[in-house]
Amino acid sequence: MKLGIIAVVGSINIDIVNRVQEYPVPGQTIKSEGTEYNYGGKGANQAVAAARSGGRTMMAGAVGSDSFGGELLEALRREGIDTKRVDRKSGNSGMAFITVDASGQNQIILSEGANGSVVPEDVKPLWAMPDVAAVLLQNEIPWETNRSVLRQARAAGIRVTFNPAPALPIPDDVLALIDTLIVNESEAEFISGRTVGSRAEAETAARALLDRGAGEVIVTLGSQGALYMARSGDSFYTPAYPVKAVDTTAAGDTFIGAYTAQVCEGSPIPEALRFASAAAALTVMRSGAQSSIPTREEIASFLQ
Ligand code: ATP
Repeated sequence: MKLGIIAVVGSINIDIVNRVQEYPVPGQTIKSEGTEYNYGGKGANQAVAAARSGGRTMMAGAVGSDSFGGELLEALRREGIDTKRVDRKSGNSGMAFITVDASGQNQIILSEGANGSVVPEDVKPLWAMPDVAAVLLQNEIPWETNRSVLRQARAAGIRVTFNPAPALPIPDDVLALIDTLIVNESEAEFISGRTVGSRAEAETAARALLDRGAGEVIVTLGSQGALYMARSGDSFYTPAYPVKAVDTTAAGDTFIGAYTAQVCEGSPIPEALRFASAAAALTVMRSGAQSSIPTREEIASFLQ
């Protein structure tokens, strides 16, 4: 069986991480205790998770004309991700400057770079590709582009999974274009306007989002698992695996990419949720972002 393509339309960043004892005060210069370059951006992370889960994955977005641009493209290609629709724009690539202090807190300055200039024209070729089965979208490229992608995907009959992170208000006419909305607790709260701390509260928020037009809603609840509800009336819950969490970075992105890959393979929803939950559990057991995302083989052996 030849799988349909998962087209991830979103951000591609280089994360520049410095470790310090204490943050500098204004005017002060301090020495970093160590610097790391990591590949990141929610779009790229979700694309890597989908590809490592066995999905046929394509990325649409942009990197800059700087040397990071070439490196970021190469990193995606090494994962087997098709990068034909990643444009190279003049200027810098998306960069996150992350400073972690001795207590493990972080401060982040995001330079959106090329991600901020992804326009609907860049995504247009996807609609003519007969193999595109699903579009995966986040909130790290311009909102106008996301809105246009949602409209065009609906017109082309392609299912869209939207992870509105970071959260922005979503008008009802846009919610009605989303087949699958995947949100964590704080995004669910922000978009539904209801408190979400428990599974029961997540159900109430998900129902409100379905009533406003979304086709299906998944609320991820960290170590409390994930809840799925659909307009059809279907409802499923998957617990999180009880593992020792070392670093939860990219847990959400892993869950979303792995879930989408499973659904595109035709797995029933409860099975796809279980697979995604196992993938995310493996991610939280390791430190790092993209580097901590597991492969399909690792997920399968964890599930045995
Ligand atoms: P992040 O921003 O850290 O990437 P998120 O806030 O988007 O994550 P979460 O709801 O925290 O997303 O986590 C997504 C999924 O990851 C959860 O539904 C669960 O399956 C898994 N997960 C998260 N934290 C844990 C944990 N401590 N133990 C086991 N699984 C976890």
